[in-house]
Amino acid sequence: MTTQFEPEVEQELIDRGYSRRQMAKVAALLGAGAAAVHVTGAGAQQAAKAKAGAVLIGANECWTGPFPIAAEAAFKLVKEGNRYEPNNEHQKLFEAVSAVEGIPADRIVAWPGSSDPLSRVAIAYASPTRGIVTADPTYEAIWRTADWLGAPVKKVPLTKDYAHDVKAMLAADPNAGVYYICSPNNPTGTVTPVADIEWLANNKPKDAILVVDEAYIHWVDGPNAAKLAATRDDVLILRTFSKLFGMAGMRLGLTFASPKLMEKMMRYDGMQVTWMLPMTAVACGTVSVAQADLIKARRAEMNAAREKSVSHLKAKGIKVIPGSQANMFMVDWGKKTAKEMQTALMDANVQIGRNWPIWPNVSRVSVGSMAEMEAFNAAVDKVWKA
Ligand code: PLP
Repeated sequence: MTTQFEPEVEQELIDRGYSRRQMAKVAALLGAGAAAVHVTGAGAQQAAKAKAGAVLIGANECWTGPFPIAAEAAFKLVKEGNRYEPNNEHQKLFEAVSAVEGIPADRIVAWPGSSDPLSRVAIAYASPTRGIVTADPTYEAIWRTADWLGAPVKKVPLTKDYAHDVKAMLAADPNAGVYYICSPNNPTGTVTPVADIEWLANNKPKDAILVVDEAYIHWVDGPNAAKLAATRDDVLILRTFSKLFGMAGMRLGLTFASPKLMEKMMRYDGMQVTWMLPMTAVACGTVSVAQADLIKARRAEMNAAREKSVSHLKAKGIKVIPGSQANMFMVDWGKKTAKEMQTALMDANVQIGRNWPIWPNVSRVSVGSMAEMEAFNAAVDKVWKA
């Protein structure tokens, strides 16, 4: 019987008197949490490398914190922190989200970020015999969960317009357990049309789950895929407050899905993780989602900062992957490797993001404030030799 623990951990558990059967049970119990810790590791490692005072445009965080009106709501809850859940905070969040997105409140679940449900959906619906299909490049957290699970992954290149190639994704594994679409895609920022997402929902195996990760959807002035989760039992939408809402360290995310789909993701803890969230984050999120004007203004401000850097790079003859509609863009450094450029820019006090194995000479750059993007432009001027 395999327990899925590292050999040294397994030995420690044997020393503590666990049988292999008990260890397998513990491994199953800890499964989702262990995978989520692994997933969030990448961002934390990246932040650790930054020099003090550096411009941080490497981890797709927001350059500023929550909207002030939402931060005030959180602070009110700090003062009521003696209570587990004053004033029905969860329900208020679900109602606020339901009003904005048109999803029935009973199909909305809140999480400490979206990493945990992303790992869980893979663990619940993929397996060594039912694999996972993703784009390449895309947000790679689910690849690591698949490794941990022993589930095969098929990585399908983006189309020439940098959208998900949904037909090729289905062809790559017509019997997968999970199909993962990230729109806007991390790291390219490019959007996959909702019609293509619907096509995959309608053509995948009936018992497979389509996961649509909309972490960056608030930068898109257009339709999203949320409505698919309003009626279907086989689509899970992921949202997070870590990006445009500036709450990465507060930890709040959402899933939109049918209760039936969610049930299988909750086998081990009776949903405890979802109803014992920090009330500060919940209250901050409730106020944030309703701020249509502030969302629009932050989007416009950051899109302008993105375009300032994109045109600066292009004017220098540096190629930028076109079409980003999010707080990131990809720079193709030509003959230079992404790692070389990341180090050179870090020496100039600007921390840019990582690269993906499929494109070793292309770096992801997150969009900060206008001043931060001007600092990035100046750092490129300093280090770039064509
Ligand atoms: N999904 C995507 C596409 C992301 O880029 C990230 C973080 O960078 C996450 C999910 C997880 O974020 P969080 O756990 O902070 O919600």
